[in-house]
Amino acid sequence: MFDSDLPLSRTVTDRAADLRGDEDLLPALLDDASTRVLLVSGGRVVTRARGRRRSLALFSPQEAALRAPSSSLAERWAFLGYDDADRVPGRAPAEGRPEGPAYLAHHVPEGETAALAAGDAWTSLREVGTDLSARDAGLATAAVALYEWHVRHPRCPRCGEATLPVQSGWVRRCPADGSDHYPRTDPAVIMAVVDEADRLLLANSSAWPEHRFSTLAGFVEPGESVEHAIRREVREESSVVVGDVEYRGSQPWPFPASLMLGFRARALSTEIQVDGDELRAARWFDRDALRAEVSAGTVVLPPGTSIARALIEDWFGGPLPTGPQGDGWTRATTPERATPEPAPAPAPAAPRPSEPAASTPAKPTPGARAGTAAPAPAADPAPTRRSGRRAAAGPVDAPREEPGPPGTR
Ligand SMILES: [Zn+2]
Repeated sequence: MFDSDLPLSRTVTDRAADLRGDEDLLPALLDDASTRVLLVSGGRVVTRARGRRRSLALFSPQEAALRAPSSSLAERWAFLGYDDADRVPGRAPAEGRPEGPAYLAHHVPEGETAALAAGDAWTSLREVGTDLSARDAGLATAAVALYEWHVRHPRCPRCGEATLPVQSGWVRRCPADGSDHYPRTDPAVIMAVVDEADRLLLANSSAWPEHRFSTLAGFVEPGESVEHAIRREVREESSVVVGDVEYRGSQPWPFPASLMLGFRARALSTEIQVDGDELRAARWFDRDALRAEVSAGTVVLPPGTSIARALIEDWFGGPLPTGPQGDGWTRATTPERATPEPAPAPAPAAPRPSEPAASTPAKPTPGARAGTAAPAPAADPAPTRRSGRRAAAGPVDAPREEPGPPGTR
């Protein structure tokens, strides 16, 4: 495992999932002035300047509603949990105990954002993730992941009917057939491939500037093990054959729905062949060469929020120097809507009502995570797919499926 927690994997809040089914929970928390609300829109949250860092801007329910005037209970609020780590499962925090407040996420549809106070700003979680405290990062990551799912899955994959949020914002239910649909998370593998000489394989995507390099990554396909996905992706993208793999850690990457599973992978071959289409180049780096190239700015590595950066520094043995472009790809080197991290190719989009999934599992037992809605058919195959397979999923930057709130970048 990594020495330090990955920025978006840190969390200290008790999600209190056992309380979500209480239909009185959200109304009660909205009536409670001690409830803290974070605002989420697209991949962004409202943060507040705190010295040179930023923290989540947390509002009372009344203040939050003022920031998004057309809010409605059903569609816009979700319960994120409590600070109280000693809460007895099944019971709300008892009165008089020194537990922390409850946290809610309030979804602000893009284009409906009201004016913010001075010092507050809509901030991309990708960019601010390393600045936030563990509590704030955990809350923001959960809120972004949840609302990226809500926005993309407004309809029942079985019958096409519009679904409604239930379970305090964690499930969508179809009023026509009663089926429940759960937030999805798409597993993706990302790997530091290392050869016998302890060199690291990094690649440059055709969609990036030529100096930008990162680890290979790709989605796990249906019916495939994680280990197989690693070997398949590396071979497809670079022709390098991978043997043993070692798990290093994971990080949610809710842009919109990935869970990045990080590995060290041992190469059995060293000859590189890229297709020149998805990947422009791939190279083996030893530590001296990587340090020198990063310092010179001829290689720019992914930003600190990403698990790719952590995998690279895990192999390197410590932090790499900051190059002339600074940390990351966002501020200085990427166009307006580019994804500044080694995201895998876009996940399958939400189903169209005209293309219902073949089946939906039965409603799971309370608390069970399994039995989510059947995997949605890819309504709009991503441009990086070809010949019926996912081509060179990583480190290709997935084009964002939607821009953030205007004027916030
Ligand atoms: Zn339905």
